[in-house]
Amino acid sequence: MFQNHSRVIRAKWIVPVINSPIENGWVRFGEGKILELGSGDVPRDAIDLGDVAILPRLVNAHTHLEFSDLERPVGAPGIAFTDWIKLVIKTRLTASPEAKGRSVLRGAEELWESGTVLAGDIATPPQSYARLSSELDLISFAEVLGLQDERFRERFEVGSEHCEVHPLSGLSPHAPYSISLGSLEQVIQHASSLHRPIAMHVAESPEERELLSCGSGQMVEMLETIGISTHRHFPWSANPFDQLIQMLGTLSTVFLVHGNDFQRREIEQLAEHKHITVVYCPRTHSFFNFPKHPVTEMQSHGVRVVLGTDSRASNPDLNLWNEVRFLLCERQDIDASQVLKMATLLPAEAMVNAFPQIGPCGAIARGYRASLGMVSTTATTQDQLYRDLSLNEYRNLKYD
Ligand SMILES: [Zn+2]
Repeated sequence: MFQNHSRVIRAKWIVPVINSPIENGWVRFGEGKILELGSGDVPRDAIDLGDVAILPRLVNAHTHLEFSDLERPVGAPGIAFTDWIKLVIKTRLTASPEAKGRSVLRGAEELWESGTVLAGDIATPPQSYARLSSELDLISFAEVLGLQDERFRERFEVGSEHCEVHPLSGLSPHAPYSISLGSLEQVIQHASSLHRPIAMHVAESPEERELLSCGSGQMVEMLETIGISTHRHFPWSANPFDQLIQMLGTLSTVFLVHGNDFQRREIEQLAEHKHITVVYCPRTHSFFNFPKHPVTEMQSHGVRVVLGTDSRASNPDLNLWNEVRFLLCERQDIDASQVLKMATLLPAEAMVNAFPQIGPCGAIARGYRASLGMVSTTATTQDQLYRDLSLNEYRNLKYD
């Protein structure tokens, strides 16, 4: 019934993500959508792709494209987080608007070429995506920060303008250590009134908790070095992240980026807030040598955890498949099928919750976007399949 308007591909494995991998499977698609899939008897018009696994395209929940011209991360692996922030501030101050524009374009191309179809980008407006030529969908979160009132007002204004210009956009109050509680409340209220999502770096390092709960530690030193007097703003309270999670309760979609330092009580609280998604950036987490990420505790409590690359300031590339491979090798305590969901279906669901116009993507199922990739495999069992996925590169499937 579809023959005139559709194509069929057959492969050693189809990995729908939304349910179990299918050996010797096939997928029919047309007009940009998956029409049907199956196993066994292959439709006569199928194109046989051979020893590959077909997967949905990837969804990267967190990056900063403006740093995409960096050839290598800022600082050496294991650098203290506060020293890294000081170096990044210097990098940002020296970038011209033209250089930033080129960097954003280069990063977006890197995302698309490495298999990403949908991504969340943290932008420092003014920032344009007008020259993007691929079908990559970007949700652009305007970064708003400033412990000093004047700086905050200026960033809040341009951030609000950014939301007016870009239909797929939200706000990013940068982190609890770079915005005052009062200003943060204002940003949350504004995003809530616009029905837009928020993305915020939270609980990235133990030093952040010390600043927020005690008003002391290496973060105080870092902030004072860049001319900010901390005693006006810190500490927040004995349980700062409980407070923050409560504050975010009025929003319908929130991405808390990193969450490396969330503790059990906070994870239990996150589990009660289904509108909050935690974004884990595995290779960036590893770059800073942070203690083991509590991803499995979060998942066992029912918290939605998804993957991001973060930027080239803390990661050698923006290839989300490399995050998948890293986890399949280094974190075998995480279920392999769950790792694939963290890079596809789960972030897509959170993003589509904020912007239904994106349409279903991140899985191979009827009605989902027919945007696919493939990885070489000769596996005859699911264990072998996941081993091959951990070893081999992801390639975009081009069928036109
Ligand atoms: Zn980030």
